[in-house]
Amino acid sequence: MSQTSVALLGATGSIGSQTLEVLRREPERFRLTAIAGGGGNIERLIAIAREFQVLQIGVPSNELREVLLSALPGSHVVVGDEGLKELASSADTIVNAVVGFAGLPVTLAALEAGKRLALANKESLIAAAPLVERVRHTPGAELLPIDSEHCAIHQALAGASSATGYRDVRRLILTASGGPFRGWTSEALDGVTKDKALAHPTWTMGPKITIDSSTLMNKGLEVLEASALFGIGVDRVDVVIHPQSIVHSMVEYVDGSVIAQLSKPDMRLPIAYCLGMPERLDHAWGALDFREPLTLEFSPPDLTNFPALPLAYEAARIGGVAPAWMSAANEVAVAAFLADRISWRQIVEVVSLTLSRYEPVGLTSLSELLEADARARQVATANLPQ
Ligand code: NAD
Ligand code: MG
Repeated sequence: MSQTSVALLGATGSIGSQTLEVLRREPERFRLTAIAGGGGNIERLIAIAREFQVLQIGVPSNELREVLLSALPGSHVVVGDEGLKELASSADTIVNAVVGFAGLPVTLAALEAGKRLALANKESLIAAAPLVERVRHTPGAELLPIDSEHCAIHQALAGASSATGYRDVRRLILTASGGPFRGWTSEALDGVTKDKALAHPTWTMGPKITIDSSTLMNKGLEVLEASALFGIGVDRVDVVIHPQSIVHSMVEYVDGSVIAQLSKPDMRLPIAYCLGMPERLDHAWGALDFREPLTLEFSPPDLTNFPALPLAYEAARIGGVAPAWMSAANEVAVAAFLADRISWRQIVEVVSLTLSRYEPVGLTSLSELLEADARARQVATANLPQ
């Protein structure tokens, strides 16, 4: 079997660690050739480089480059966005497991270089959808979603024709666990603490997406992600609350058939799907045991107490860089919440206020996007309660 080289960018995080678990189980099939991480966990980055004998490493600053070079003499250490771009075109498959808008250089460079992009970093696709659309048709380029809902839809769409704009598809139905505050009253939500918001009922994930799941902003972002990935307008993307996180999403066809993908919540399954395509890796991560009782519930989302979801549809309706604007504001607000500067309620209030001050721009170039992202962060920061 010929080996596939893999670059794992965002290697030290939750998706990064689970990708490493998949790679450990398939040493013949995959070879990890490049890794990158943010500043927070440099010891872990060094440990990964040693374990997998990785020689190409990306870090955010020159200081960290020096640290790495003294720990790993002989390695090729690259820095910042330019470094991420270089690594994102260096292997057969690129896993983008960076969190936030910082993952943008990886998404664009991997597709431009005609690579398979296994995408966990939804923020880059949401912000840059029109720019991604331009590069995803580069010969050899492939965009496969690691996000479990989108991976489920990818599987449920098998056999449907994208050439007709998925004419046979009535709608995509994204499932949402509802997060830790599903069913909470407005009064109870006023008393949400950081610990409670960080305790997701069904998934263990990095802090940013865990907070996004508690506000349902994650699901809002995923509506935009689904629309960008599959070229289906958000008016054909619905959300349903499904507390068990067993049905990962569904496709409803025009004849009324609904095709769903089911498994236990385990991100190694979608990661392995994206790495192995067109083959399925034989590890049965997330396999269900139907001898055990299994109850699956579905209900509509509470849009009054969780206004992040309607906000995302609003951003899609506005178009241009509004999705980027909303996502940037959310990054600022979530960071402020995690730093104990604002309350849980105020996260979505800040995003809403920032979106209401949106300065319309089309999205035709990367510089326009970078400017809009920086501007949205300024406006959101100014909107943080003092
Ligand atoms: P995390 O916080 O656990 O990890 C983030 C990773 O990004 C870390 O390795 C960090 O060092 C790296 N990073 C941050 N800034 C960087 C920079 N400037 N340059 C290089 N690396 C940088 O986050 P996570 O939960 O693993 O999520 C990663 C992405 O995957 C997010 O976009 C998230 O929405 C998406 N996602 C995560 C899950 C999950 O189960 N964790 C599920 C679906 C989608
Ligand atoms: Mg998801």
